[in-house]
Amino acid sequence: MTEEKTKEELEELIIKTSKIDISDLLCPICADVFVWPRNYDCGHTVCETCMYNMDIRQLPEDTHIAVIYRCPVCRDPTLKSWNNRPLSFLLERYATKHPDYQKRKKEVIELKKLRKETLVSISDSVDLASTCYVARINLALDLYEILLEKLYIAAKEGKNHLIITERSIVSEIEKVGDILSYQLFSKHNIYRMLTTRGECTIYLTRNAFSWRRNFENRNWVDPTGPTIDSMRENGPPPLPMDPPPQIPVPPPIETHSPLIHRRSLRRTPVSSPSSYSRRN
Ligand SMILES: [Zn+2]
Ligand SMILES: [Zn+2]
Repeated sequence: MTEEKTKEELEELIIKTSKIDISDLLCPICADVFVWPRNYDCGHTVCETCMYNMDIRQLPEDTHIAVIYRCPVCRDPTLKSWNNRPLSFLLERYATKHPDYQKRKKEVIELKKLRKETLVSISDSVDLASTCYVARINLALDLYEILLEKLYIAAKEGKNHLIITERSIVSEIEKVGDILSYQLFSKHNIYRMLTTRGECTIYLTRNAFSWRRNFENRNWVDPTGPTIDSMRENGPPPLPMDPPPQIPVPPPIETHSPLIHRRSLRRTPVSSPSSYSRRN
């Protein structure tokens, strides 16, 4: 007991005599007293709650790009996620002397319970290909069930395509597009699935293109022509098609309805009295 008290007294003494300012015990991001302060590679320290929140915000838009985190103070990049950045035990000790420390620690513990963390211990012999395969199948089946319902409703309403714009869902679809499209094509006669960075469009029928007002001329001739190399390889290009014959268009007949139009066509022309007298 005596030794412990001495330790505490010594600690108090060190804290009192050190040149640490009370502002040094506050996180530069949330301005609350440090609870579980962690260090970035650059040396900047941020509380664990802020570090975790920053990491979540820095997830890339492209599904397959590895996450690069940045220190919120100096923007220094790192591949380490928050849980791999070291805790600053010394700073934590100083922080415990702050009058708000206990209150803040309770808040942080509550916040931590709300996080959806996926920290796992990884075995040395983990088969990553199998892990990925199983995860992809499960994800594809989850998405398949959700999309099938939406596609069925769209089909019943006569919509020939469906666009998904929610970024988080599009990025999930992008991950398992091959499995998902196979399911949709082989089981439900879906025509096409197109995933771009921001959206996924599923075409129920081929004429979905015309609905989008996208028409293409299959006989279009490229004015730049083929290169000499490709001509050597493939022979001369086919001649362009003859233009369609020009059919003279009759001048429009001024009428207000098809009924009047038909009547006017049936009417026989009446000769003028002068021409009648001349012929006789
Ligand atoms: Zn903070
Ligand atoms: Zn930094």
